[in-house]
Amino acid sequence: MYLVLLGPPGAGKGTQAKRLAEKLGVPHISTGDILRQNVLLDTDLGRQAKGIMEKGLLVPDDLVAKMLDERFSNPDIKKGFILDGYPRTLAQAHSLDAILASKGLAVDLVVYLDTSDRVIIKRLTGRLVCSKCGANFHTTNMPPKVKGLCDSCQGPLYQRSDDNEITVVKRLEVYKQQVASLIEYYKKAEKLHSLNADLEAKVVLQQIIELSAKV
Ligand code: AMP
Repeated sequence: MYLVLLGPPGAGKGTQAKRLAEKLGVPHISTGDILRQNVLLDTDLGRQAKGIMEKGLLVPDDLVAKMLDERFSNPDIKKGFILDGYPRTLAQAHSLDAILASKGLAVDLVVYLDTSDRVIIKRLTGRLVCSKCGANFHTTNMPPKVKGLCDSCQGPLYQRSDDNEITVVKRLEVYKQQVASLIEYYKKAEKLHSLNADLEAKVVLQQIIELSAKV
């Protein structure tokens, strides 16, 4: 199952992708996570991406496409993947198709997590991420059992530097400029399904599982 999760920042793509990946036994590939890892390790790519990410803007397409092509050369994608954070532009959707086609693969299903701005801002400004396993928590909606520590691996929780209100508003603006053409593209390809992602995470997860079972 080659599944793409589309939706604004804060739609719950990361949370859903992680759970789906476990359930379906395929890797969760998040371009944001790979970029943050590069920033942390201070690689060439990380140095180029850091300032752009802090402003909430998009890292240039060629850099992200190359990064993804490398990730897809890992044999763990043989059975599928859950792709989160890519594509974000129509050009990236074309790149994704081309990269996958070069490996004899194609996207099977695109799930659009439709979310209201009010819910997004609340979710993101309260989001806490585990620095060890990447699990997400929320200061009020989903607090960890022990303050500051991950429930699953006890790793320390942190707040992403781009999860402040000013950057969140910018990220949403950037997202909205691009999303219409992406939705159109996947609608035409008859791969798009929309879900109301303002609903509770477990309800949305169940709906995605039902959709993926039909493919
Ligand atoms: P995310 O974790 O998906 O919210 O991504 C965090 C940041 O990483 C974004 O605001 C962008 O700066 C960058 N980023 C992630 N994915 C992409 C992508 N597909 N294209 C360009 N920039 C990206």
